[in-house]
Amino acid sequence: MTSLTRRRLFGQAANLAGALAMGAYAGKTAWAAPGRLRVVVAGAHPDDPETGCGGTIARYSDAGHEVVILYLTRGERGIKGKTYEEAGRIRSVEAQKACEILKARPVFAGQVNGKVEVNYTRYDEFLKLVQSEQPDVVFTHWPIDTHEDHPATSLLVYEAWLRMERKFALYYFEVITGMQTSQFSPTHYVDITATEARKRAACFAHASQNPEEFYAVHDQMNRCRGMELGSKYAEAFIHHAQSPEIAMPA
Ligand SMILES: [Zn+2]
Repeated sequence: MTSLTRRRLFGQAANLAGALAMGAYAGKTAWAAPGRLRVVVAGAHPDDPETGCGGTIARYSDAGHEVVILYLTRGERGIKGKTYEEAGRIRSVEAQKACEILKARPVFAGQVNGKVEVNYTRYDEFLKLVQSEQPDVVFTHWPIDTHEDHPATSLLVYEAWLRMERKFALYYFEVITGMQTSQFSPTHYVDITATEARKRAACFAHASQNPEEFYAVHDQMNRCRGMELGSKYAEAFIHHAQSPEIAMPA
């Protein structure tokens, strides 16, 4: 962040976000955010942040903002025939590759897929992690989702947001809508036409997860959200109305 104080940054960001809102729907406005934003994208498993907002992550990192991808687990339950340790190792390497493609920094929160806990100890632990990143904006799972680890991640982020006095902007993303995420009515869209190829490459870095199959659904979502926005490809988000409006890539 530059010499801007956080309050001034949010003030300017709010003005800018308001000014961008109309432009965002036209999908044509050149984007510049004030100062350098610290963006955290929290997902339950390697591949969730990439599928939910890989195009937006690339938009932020291309514009010089710092993006951290925070994985709650290493997806230890996610490869048939492998032990949790083996799968966790393989999927961590895949996550590192995806983060390189998106120019983001991976952080692993240390929970285990298949044994995810949401309790007071976990709230404390996750809060410390989020505090250490000092985010201006956090993206996480929409909590109405069929995979039990996705709402768990969402609740951990939400509790951290409450305990940090709602200071950072909070947005929710969608994954495999219709099969996992449901009841998702976007408030914001980001044009990812320029970064869709990198999103796709980052998703395909998760080779152990049958990316042909899961990306086919996200390809449809990217196109559908793009039609809603008026661009070729887009990602959609729900903004928590009690959190600051921070500049979204427009
Ligand atoms: Zn997941």
